[in-house]
Amino acid sequence: MKNIIIFGAPGSGKGTYSDAIVEKYGMNHISTGDTLRNEIKKGTEVGKIAKGLIDNGQLIPDELMVKILANTYDALPKGKGVIFDGFPRTIAQAEALKQMLAERNNELGLVIELVVEEGILMSRLLNRAKEQGRADDNEVTIKKRFDVYHAQTEPILEWFDKEGIRNTVKWADHPSKEQMIEAIFNLIEEKNA
Ligand code: AMP
Repeated sequence: MKNIIIFGAPGSGKGTYSDAIVEKYGMNHISTGDTLRNEIKKGTEVGKIAKGLIDNGQLIPDELMVKILANTYDALPKGKGVIFDGFPRTIAQAEALKQMLAERNNELGLVIELVVEEGILMSRLLNRAKEQGRADDNEVTIKKRFDVYHAQTEPILEWFDKEGIRNTVKWADHPSKEQMIEAIFNLIEEKNA
């Protein structure tokens, strides 16, 4: 399997669709958000740095994030494709990921960009706050996360275009979880990922 980057705004369904892909294709999954939340739970130094930033809707600095990603990647079983969920979030991270994979005789694969209208994202995230109680799922922090997404993360789309790896799946065209999953599986198979 090729590597897959699942990309989109907060609440676009990256985790949900990653789980569906893992179940169907048996890939490795790296969710940098889950990794950081785990560090916070364990009370590590990284966790202490991450907590204030996450609760504020800000990004963890690139240098630290790239180190965490490389450690997580190197600990995975070899020979399977990886789904990168929540990484890269800046162009610097995208460049670092490309380089890290090249150093390991591997490459980026394909990007699946999830497009969902912002009003739907907000209501999903507020719902998730009720169900999962994530500290960063409150209205003020969600707005900050959207701002950070537009300012720092969205510009990567052009970088993906230049690499020729960007593919888009829109909620407006597939307005249910099942339809999105079907469109994503079709895309993976079409790209022979
Ligand atoms: P997520 O679970 O992907 O929504 O991530 C939750 C939070 O973790 C984000 O709002 C960031 O504060 C932090 N985070 C996750 N991935 C990254 C990353 N690649 N770079 C910087 N910060 C990240």
